[in-house]
Amino acid sequence: MARRLPVVAIVGRPNVGKSTLFNRLVGKKLALVDDLPGVTRDRREGEANLLGLDFRLFDTAGFEDEDPQSLPGRMRVQTEAAVAEADVALFLIDARAGIVPLDAEIARWLRGSTTPVILVANKAEGRAGEAGILESLELGFGDPVQISAEHGEGVADLFEALLPHIDRGDDGDDDDDDADEDGPLKLAIVGRPNAGKSTLVNKILGEDRMITGPEAGITRDSIAIDLAWPHEGGARPLRLIDTAGLRKKAKVQDKLEKLSAADALHAVDFAEVVVLLLDATRGLEVQDLRIADRVLEEGRALVIAINKWDVAEDPSSLFQGIRKALDEGLAQVKGVPLIAVSAATGKGIDQMVDVAFETREAWSKRVSTGQLNRWFERAIEANPPPAPGGKRIKLRYVTQAKTRPPGFVLFGTRVDQLPESYRRYLVNGIRRELGFGAVPVRLTLRAPK
Ligand code: GDP
Ligand code: GDP
Repeated sequence: MARRLPVVAIVGRPNVGKSTLFNRLVGKKLALVDDLPGVTRDRREGEANLLGLDFRLFDTAGFEDEDPQSLPGRMRVQTEAAVAEADVALFLIDARAGIVPLDAEIARWLRGSTTPVILVANKAEGRAGEAGILESLELGFGDPVQISAEHGEGVADLFEALLPHIDRGDDGDDDDDDADEDGPLKLAIVGRPNAGKSTLVNKILGEDRMITGPEAGITRDSIAIDLAWPHEGGARPLRLIDTAGLRKKAKVQDKLEKLSAADALHAVDFAEVVVLLLDATRGLEVQDLRIADRVLEEGRALVIAINKWDVAEDPSSLFQGIRKALDEGLAQVKGVPLIAVSAATGKGIDQMVDVAFETREAWSKRVSTGQLNRWFERAIEANPPPAPGGKRIKLRYVTQAKTRPPGFVLFGTRVDQLPESYRRYLVNGIRRELGFGAVPVRLTLRAPK
């Protein structure tokens, strides 16, 4: 579903850097709109992204070639048209040149509009713009946001200024284009020798699963097997990664060939979700934790399956013991999905694959900046950041910069002094309250400018 993106207009006199800013925010996705009649003829429009914030951007540059006599008139029509359509206007001035009469004139037009205006002092790199920034106060739009469109400075401040105006509320949960949710789930199965990996793969491929890809596993270099995984509402595509060796081994009953550690890590590279298979007759061993840690470090979603459940002794205390050891042993995430399976009987395998699909969803999820910051404000109010040496660390806002795995950027001052325990508090909050579950979540701290 296409939702309406918020609209931002860049206005200002010629040469202040409108096009430069436009190009920086829109990047490659530039769309030239030159076939429209009237005032929008020269307007450029594009989809912009600023630190995870998506919006449509208008650039009103493009009338520079006009007869200078008619310039202010043309500009006024164009500026007012763009601003009327926009949710917020960025009023650019040139900090180096200072305020010229045309800037004051544009300020007058903008004051007549109901669209909020953010004053932006461009070309503010270095200290060359200080005088112009002081002068700009007389325009009546408050302190300008200082940026350098050319050098990419002040981006975080611009983000912060825009955020309150283009917050779209609580949408954005499932509108992620890059999530590739419908693509095959790329699943790797790893674990120590004898955990039962090849038995499990054969069980998955056996039964009446349909193998949709080319007949794999015959040659050593085929590294993926595609199949359709039955599910209510239609089969879902599943891709088993690097199982060729496992299949081959199972077929020829070669008990000696084992998947090497290097092979396993290679499989992890290509996977979205990794199932770490444990052996119920051995419990959780240090080596298992090491593999689990490694998978999370690689940013993959992790599911843990305890195999050979059919021969487990005292299953319920075994399960609880492993649950506890995992939560204590995996520093990065608590509550990694844990499922009991039997590759021999088939028990639990459907559930395991279903959980892997769900885990990928969390791993691919994007929350809107609005939703994120509403949670964030509550989180820092409930537990304010500390004040090392009497100076409070000021945390300003957070944005989701990426998915698969989810990555967040937190802006504030003195963030380099934020204790690890506080960062963990925030990461756990993101997981628990914003639906990221037990997938690895990254939080980067940044001080604007
Ligand atoms: P527009 O007419 O408002 O679209 O302005 P342009 O984007 O075409 O920029 C006008 C001139 O200012 C160009 O020569 C740009 O390279 C320069 N310019 C744009 N942004 C900056 C900046 O942040 N710093 C400096 N020093 N020059 C800039
Ligand atoms: P791999 O080295 O991880 O590929 O492990 P294999 O698939 O070769 O299995 C190792 C041994 O465990 C074999 O003797 C299997 O028959 C046995 N095994 C695998 N899965 C199960 C299971 O669910 N239950 C039982 N009882 N034995 C299993």
